[in-house]
Amino acid sequence: MDKASLASALGSPAVFGQSQFAFMRGNAFEARVKADGGAELLRLVHDKLDRSAEPPAGAQVPALSATGPEGRAARTSLALREATEAPGTWTLLDHPMLALDVAGSPAFLEPDAVVVHPDGSWTVVEIKSFPMLDGSADPAKVGAAARQAAVYVLALEQVAARLSPSPRVRHRILLVCPKDFSNLPTASAVDVRKQRAVTDRQLARLTRIEDIADALPEGVCFSPDLPADELTAAVEAVPATYAPECLSACELAFHCRARSREAGAVTSLGRPVRAELGGLSTVEDVLAAARGEAGDPADPAVAALRRAAALRAEALATAGGGAL
Ligand code: SF4
Repeated sequence: MDKASLASALGSPAVFGQSQFAFMRGNAFEARVKADGGAELLRLVHDKLDRSAEPPAGAQVPALSATGPEGRAARTSLALREATEAPGTWTLLDHPMLALDVAGSPAFLEPDAVVVHPDGSWTVVEIKSFPMLDGSADPAKVGAAARQAAVYVLALEQVAARLSPSPRVRHRILLVCPKDFSNLPTASAVDVRKQRAVTDRQLARLTRIEDIADALPEGVCFSPDLPADELTAAVEAVPATYAPECLSACELAFHCRARSREAGAVTSLGRPVRAELGGLSTVEDVLAAARGEAGDPADPAVAALRRAAALRAEALATAGGGAL
């Protein structure tokens, strides 16, 4: 389902994404890195990852356009195969399309670039607009880029597995960033073996999409074309546990946050708060437990709330009165 369209149809559109300025700056930097048939990009790949190979004096840049993501993924697979079968040359795939099996359904991914080395091995290239200062960049941003690239590595490995002999997909990717505060590209090789292994395990553990669909109420439909009340009822038929972390990860976050607040759910205060409160799932339950009107006194969360309420009442009484 396209969750961004669903969120808009529900009246709570997502506000994801970079600012227009950051987006344009990122695009301009990427265009610079890939200018002249990717000459600078290939020089960086050679310098950081494959110095024993012949320096790239020009590269193949196959056209990858096709209709739809399936067509583009098929075109990319063909280009990878042709490049791998022509050893001794460098090939740059600009915005290839890869399909990765996620819970039994293909997810289409578009890395910034993939380079085929003269020995037939493949490297993922990620181009980011955050700066690399004195050769190192913000570790949190590098970590996010490594996790992203690891997914591309897994998708490339699925393509490689269909070829015979299977080409090697390199587990060191090339991260290209602006150098210091300039617009000049610099790069660093990033080992993504750990991120790749973690993502692989997570993908293997995912519940199959058919099993999720089987658990849905009979006849439920999330088409954004449905009337708003029907669509809202369909979404409400599926339990959701909103937490503030959803805001940076899910297009439905504004919708779920509003519902969660309406219901007084404690998860809207954050997962750590929910964990502390044990079985008390609404703000109303929490206040009733604190007042001594509900809850099992043997429950450590209830006991802690009553103690906190007593301390608060004591403090307010000392300061001149007040009530919970
Ligand atoms: S609960 Fe969070 S992750 Fe689930 S649909 Fe709502 S916003 Fe998305």
